[in-house]
Amino acid sequence: MIFLKTEDEIELMRAANQLVAKTLAEVGKHIRPGVTTIELDRVAEEFIRDNGAVPTFKGYPNPCGGTPFPASICTSVNDVVVHGVPNDTPLVNGDIVSVDCGVLLNGYNGDSCYTFSVGEVSDEVAQLLTVTKKALYEGIANAQRGKRIGDIGFAVQTLCESHGYGVVREFVGHGIGRNMHEDPQVPNYGRMGYGPMIKNGLCIAIEPMITLGSPMIYMSEDNWTIKTRDGKPSAHFEHTIAVHNGGVEILSSFEDIEKTN
Ligand code: MG
Ligand code: MG
Repeated sequence: MIFLKTEDEIELMRAANQLVAKTLAEVGKHIRPGVTTIELDRVAEEFIRDNGAVPTFKGYPNPCGGTPFPASICTSVNDVVVHGVPNDTPLVNGDIVSVDCGVLLNGYNGDSCYTFSVGEVSDEVAQLLTVTKKALYEGIANAQRGKRIGDIGFAVQTLCESHGYGVVREFVGHGIGRNMHEDPQVPNYGRMGYGPMIKNGLCIAIEPMITLGSPMIYMSEDNWTIKTRDGKPSAHFEHTIAVHNGGVEILSSFEDIEKTN
């Protein structure tokens, strides 16, 4: 069931998503060769709690029956597609790290992800990041009232596959509101004119997960970390958006991240 949001609810969602944006920017300030993702997690958790919110990922139940997620952010390095668990391995020059963050503030959820470069990355990887972020914005441009969810995925898929990249199928965007994951599912692939109708009040997270090589993935033994089968890098950018006032508002933001990085 899709819960369409009122203007009052969208305002609360904006606040939650702005806090996610600020958390990601805070984390971004600490990203450099030598830092560990556990250290980044500490920065994020402290910032979220200092701002009166709760990190939604911490203690999130494991859908595969394993241990709950132990950290406040997912840190997915290089060939890790999503759900990377922060650890004590220092980042090195040339790595990429996707930082996915969710908060619960005043009963509503924020969810956004940004893939950061650590030092200098190869041209090939830089291009993967550029195109994945562009695909996110093309998806958002297609999230207009009166269109369908399939239009979003079609736009993301078309751009990414035109560059020869892989579009991960097993993980998708989602509705968001009082719960972090609500209906509808928002795949990064699809057919124009198919899927649920986009209506006023719809709030969704759009989040392309795009691989440099094949889109085939596997789950590591920790029952969280998702990696590419071919070992090639993967990028992930995510915004939470609201369809209202005759347009699409991006509730999260990369502005602070890109100002400080
Ligand atoms: Mg996320
Ligand atoms: Mg999400």
